[in-house]
Amino acid sequence: MMDNTRSISASEVYGRLLNYVKPYWPAFTAAVFAMAIYAGTETGLAAMMKPLMDGSFVNKDADTIKFIPLALIALFLIRGAANFVTAYGLGWVARNVIKQLRTEMFERLITLPASYYDQSTSGQLMSKLLYDVEQVAEAATDAVLTMIRDTLTIIGLLAWMIYINGMLSLIILLTVPLIALLVYKVSYRFRRISKTIQDSMGDVGHVSNEIIEGHREVKTFGSQDYELKRFDIINQQNRRQRMKMITTDAISQPIIQLISVLGLSGVIYIATLPDMLDKISAGSFISFITAMFMLLTPLKRLTKVNGKIQAGIAAAQSVFNLLDQHAESDTGTKVIGRSKGDIQYQDVAFSYSTSNGTVLDNISFHAKPGQTIAFVGHSGSGKTTLVSLLARFYPSSSGQILIDGIDINELKLSELRNQISLVNQQVVLFNDTIANNIAYGQNQHVSNNQIIAAAKAAHAWDFIQRLPQGLATQVGQNGVLLSGGQRQRLAIARALLRDAPILILDEATASLDSEAERHIQAALEALMKQRTTLVIAHRLSTIEKADQIIVMHNGHIIETGNHTELLAKGQHYAELYRLQFQEK
Ligand code: ADP
Ligand code: MG
Repeated sequence: MMDNTRSISASEVYGRLLNYVKPYWPAFTAAVFAMAIYAGTETGLAAMMKPLMDGSFVNKDADTIKFIPLALIALFLIRGAANFVTAYGLGWVARNVIKQLRTEMFERLITLPASYYDQSTSGQLMSKLLYDVEQVAEAATDAVLTMIRDTLTIIGLLAWMIYINGMLSLIILLTVPLIALLVYKVSYRFRRISKTIQDSMGDVGHVSNEIIEGHREVKTFGSQDYELKRFDIINQQNRRQRMKMITTDAISQPIIQLISVLGLSGVIYIATLPDMLDKISAGSFISFITAMFMLLTPLKRLTKVNGKIQAGIAAAQSVFNLLDQHAESDTGTKVIGRSKGDIQYQDVAFSYSTSNGTVLDNISFHAKPGQTIAFVGHSGSGKTTLVSLLARFYPSSSGQILIDGIDINELKLSELRNQISLVNQQVVLFNDTIANNIAYGQNQHVSNNQIIAAAKAAHAWDFIQRLPQGLATQVGQNGVLLSGGQRQRLAIARALLRDAPILILDEATASLDSEAERHIQAALEALMKQRTTLVIAHRLSTIEKADQIIVMHNGHIIETGNHTELLAKGQHYAELYRLQFQEK
C-alpha cells in the first residue's frame, strides 16, 4: 500500500486504547472496583475453609456451625453482584469503544484519497471494519477482566497462604516464575500467528468479495475451479494458522498444570513432614490447599488471555493503521458559490506513483463557460486521468488547473466538487429506491416533482412509470434490477438534478447499444445545455458538435481543433475518425 503504514508498538496501542476508554472512566472504575471485591470474595472463600474445618468439624463449635452457612450465602450474594457490575460495566465500555472506533474508521474511509482505494481491496477493508474491531473488543474485555480480577485474586490467595504458612508458600512462589516464563513464550508465538490470521481473514474476504461481485464473470468464464482452488489455498492457510494457535494453546495448558501439580506435591510432602504436622492445624492445611487449587484457575486464565491480548494488539494495530491514513488533503479555503464554468489547464503533468512514470505531460487547454470539449484517443492515453484531476481525485504533479481563474487547490474540496457532475461508464447506484438514487447527494429537500422533471429530461420517466412501484422501486445492489441503459439514464437524471455548472462525461454511453443510446444522446444533450462539458467521447455525434476536440496520445495532447479543422488536417484525428468514429 502506498500509505504511511508503520509498525505501531504495543505500548502505543495500549495508550491509544486507553484514550478511547477515558470518557467512560466512571463505568470502568466501577467495574474495576467490583473486580477487586470479587477477588476479595475468592480469598474469603479459601479463608472460610479454616473456621469451617477447625470450628465445625474439629472443635464442633456451635457458633461457627451456625455462622458458616450464612456467611457462605452472604459471600455469594456479594460475589454475584460484583460479577454483574464487572460484566455490565466492561461490556458497556467495550461496546462504546467499538462504536467509536467503527465511526472513526468509517469517517476515515469516506475521506481517504482515491489512491488508497486503488491499492486496497474492499475485502481487506471490510475485514478491518468487521473482524478486527471485534477482536480488539474481545481482547480488551477479557484482558482487563483477567489482568485485574485474576491478578488480584492471585495476590489475595497468595497473601492468605503466606499468612497461613510462609514455608509452604515458598514452594508455590517457586512455581509461579516457571509458569510466567511459559506464558511469555506462548504469548510471543500467539502474537506472530495472530497477525497472519488477520491477513488471511482479509484474503478470505477479498476473494469471496470478488466472486460475489463478479459472479457473472465466474459463470461465463467457467472459472469456478480456478476460484475454488484460489479460495482453498487461502482457506487452508487460515486453518493452518488457527491450528498453530490451537496447538500452542493445547501444549501449554498441560505443561502449566504439570508444573502446578509438582508444586502441589511438594506442598503435601512438606506439610506432612513430622515437624510441620505439629505446627499446622487441619483447617489451616485444608484452607491452604483450597487456596492453592483456587490459584490454578486464574493462573490458567492468565496464560490463555495472553493469546487474546496479542491477537487484540495485532487487530488494534490494523485498526489504528487505517485511522492513521492521511485523509484527502483539503487545505484550500476559497469559496466561489456557483462557478461560471471556466476551466483552464496550464501545463499539467501527472503520474500515479513515482515508480510508474508520467501518465500526463504538458496538458494545456481552455474551456470557456458553456463550451463542450471532447477528448479522443486510444484507450490508456490518459483521458480519464485528465478529467479526474479536475475533481482532485489525485493531486497533479505540476502545472495548474484553474476554475474561473482560481487554482483548484485553493478551493475547499467540497466547494470544488459542488461545481462538478460526473457521469461515468460505470454507473454506481445505491441499494435504495429510484427516487432516492436520483436525489442522491442533495443537501436540501427535493420534491417528487423535481425528481420527475429530472427523470423526464433524462428520458427515464417512460420506463420508471412502467415499473410496478414507479419511483419507489428498489433498484437492488448497484442497480442490478435495471438494464444498462436504464441505469445510465438514472445517472443522467441524478446529474441533471444536481445541476452543477461543470459536467464530466467519461464514456457515459460506451456500454449501450445504439437503440438505448439514441434515448441517452438526447438526454445528454439536455444535460450539456448551459454547462461546461468535458466529454470523453466514443461516438461521432458528440464529437462533431464539440467546440473543441483534444486528441490525446500517451499522455500528451497531439492535436486540437474542431471536427472540420481536424479532418481537413488529415493527421491523427483523421486517422482515428477513419478507424473508430466513422458511422457505418
Ligand atoms: P484512458 O481513459 O484514456 O483509457 P486512463 O487515464 O484510464 O486512460 O489511463 C492512463 C494510464 O494511467 C494508463 O497507462 C493506465 O494504466 C494508468 N492508470 C490509470 N488508472 C490508474 C491508477 N488508478 N493507478 C495507476 N495507474 C493508473
Ligand atoms: Mg478511460
